[in-house]
Amino acid sequence: MIVKMRQGATRAQISAVERLLRELEFETGKMPGKDHTLIGVYGDVSQAPRGRIFEMPGVEEIISISRAYKRATQKGTGTDRFYSTFPIGNVTIGGGDLVVVAGPCSIESERQMMEAARIMKDAGAHVLRGGVHKYRSSPYSGWEGIGAQSTDDLIEGLRYIVRAGREHQMPVVVEILDPSLINVYEDAGVDCLQIGEPNSRNTILLNALRGTDLPVIHKRGNSLDPEDYLLWVERMMINGKENIILCERGVTGPSQYTRNTLDLGSIAAFHHQLTHLPAAIDASHGTGNRDLVHPMTLAGILAGASVLLVEAHPNPLVAKSDGFQTLFPEQIGNLVEATKEVWKLRETIAHLYVPSAALEPIYEKRVSDDRERLFGRAKTVVGKGTLEEGGGDRAAQL
Ligand code: PEP
Ligand code: MN
Repeated sequence: MIVKMRQGATRAQISAVERLLRELEFETGKMPGKDHTLIGVYGDVSQAPRGRIFEMPGVEEIISISRAYKRATQKGTGTDRFYSTFPIGNVTIGGGDLVVVAGPCSIESERQMMEAARIMKDAGAHVLRGGVHKYRSSPYSGWEGIGAQSTDDLIEGLRYIVRAGREHQMPVVVEILDPSLINVYEDAGVDCLQIGEPNSRNTILLNALRGTDLPVIHKRGNSLDPEDYLLWVERMMINGKENIILCERGVTGPSQYTRNTLDLGSIAAFHHQLTHLPAAIDASHGTGNRDLVHPMTLAGILAGASVLLVEAHPNPLVAKSDGFQTLFPEQIGNLVEATKEVWKLRETIAHLYVPSAALEPIYEKRVSDDRERLFGRAKTVVGKGTLEEGGGDRAAQL
């Protein structure tokens, strides 16, 4: 991390920043330049109080020079970005098309999956989902998934979804809980694995998934900061695995009304700033409210999601889990229709998004002239009673 001081920052201001950084136990290295002094900060800067440093008098900018998630990080330049593309079965993720992953929360029976697959296909979904072993909030819920009791049951449940997917030409996604069963999912013909929210930082599972060729949808833990989450994603990538889809499914927030709080800002950050990996939005778990899934899924597309996870069931009123947030067949059809329009809109307006990196160099060259032109040579208070020339935007103007 580098702290860039303003042009004309005083020696006292530079020393104060260095002093604070050392008090915080970082090593520092000063690089005085013609216009700006740079202060290199060494050590684990992930916990550095950036806001506090940024607010110090004379500080212009904090520049991150490397991100801890080296493989998951953004690739290309701010104006010319590279995004990963890879297949789930015969469906391309991160390419030119939006991908809809839809299906029931749980695999409940052979017939239910067959009907669900037909409904998802008719609705225009591309990938079929369903869980074989479910996390439940209460151990007394009475339903832990069709494959919860034994590996044989699990294999049987996987057979239902794989058969239904094949019958309707849709690859299938199933959540995995147990790292020792990865080969069971692979052998059953599952096309993509899902890491559920409770396992978002399950070291053993993530380490084990490094070895599978199957793509993985990794759901963000509901209390994980976006960059901490990317570090957990990175864990799967360290031996070269690249086919990972991020998934925003809501974080813990103040709302009692929605099951979770969908963090659309993080989807925008993943897509525009932080990573080359494709991002999904799961508004079913994100809202926990069937009637909010449609609008929030559409919002997620504009924020930057290119994959959509949606729970839908032949009759959500008899679903064994998450029925309250699960769409009726008519609703999934209408939603997919609407997503196509929003995707078209996103593509049409994409060129109107101008990253600041494209403009900053132009405006940086004009800083001194513009400061003088707009503010004259006004006296400004920076810090506790220090009088200085120039107009810092964070300083209190007198
Ligand atoms: C699911 O996808 O059905 C599920 C349980 O999701 P999450 O892990 O996000 O709660
Ligand atoms: Mn669910």
